Amino acid sequence: MLDADFFRRWMATTAASVEREAERLTALDSAIGDADHGSNLQRGFTAVRAALEKEAPDTPGAVLVLAGRQLISTVGGASGPLYGTLLRRTGKALGDEAEVSEEELAEALRAGVDGVMALGGAAPGDKTMIDALVPAVDALGEGFAAARAAAEEGAMATVPLQARKGRASYLGERSIGHQDPGATSSALLIASLQEAAEGGR
Ligand code: ADP
Ligand code: MG
Repeated sequence: MLDADFFRRWMATTAASVEREAERLTALDSAIGDADHGSNLQRGFTAVRAALEKEAPDTPGAVLVLAGRQLISTVGGASGPLYGTLLRRTGKALGDEAEVSEEELAEALRAGVDGVMALGGAAPGDKTMIDALVPAVDALGEGFAAARAAAEEGAMATVPLQARKGRASYLGERSIGHQDPGATSSALLIASLQEAAEGGR
């Protein structure tokens, strides 16, 4: 079972890997966007970390709802409301149980990803974070390692796609040949799930 500590570790691990990969995320966004994805997420997850330390929410759902709220209020770019919605919706779907199963997390994350698609209007193949998140959720039933592999594969598979949503879509065909920054950061978020699970053992 996964408790609030697991979810706090998930957010802390994501914050650390965003910190570590910020330059790469910004470089990817400079090719097909406005070169702020790394700094956007760094600002957001720094706020998430601070809020979790200050408020110490004690259920899985409350951890994610608080994290999502921080992302929405601190990240200026498109990715803030989208990631904020992902975490908030997932958190709401987890309810106020003290512990949740991996199956319940998979189901809740599915609701979160549906929320991102409803808000941003992107579908799989549009070269967005959805291209990493949907395969990850599909694979989550087979465990965190499978979800991580699926997310990383999904992010790499954005390279040959033409962007149909977000800033990169303004480039039309010139968006082809570059990995999507949001799909890349989504792969970090999913990889952090596995790290959080290992950290608890
Ligand atoms: P901005 O585009 O406002 O500068 P960021 O650079 O932080 O915001 O985030 C860009 C990423 O957001 C893209 O790489 C893409 O993955 C994701 N994104 C943008 N628009 C959408 C959308 N409508 N649906 C899903 N993801 C999106
Ligand atoms: Mg940007």
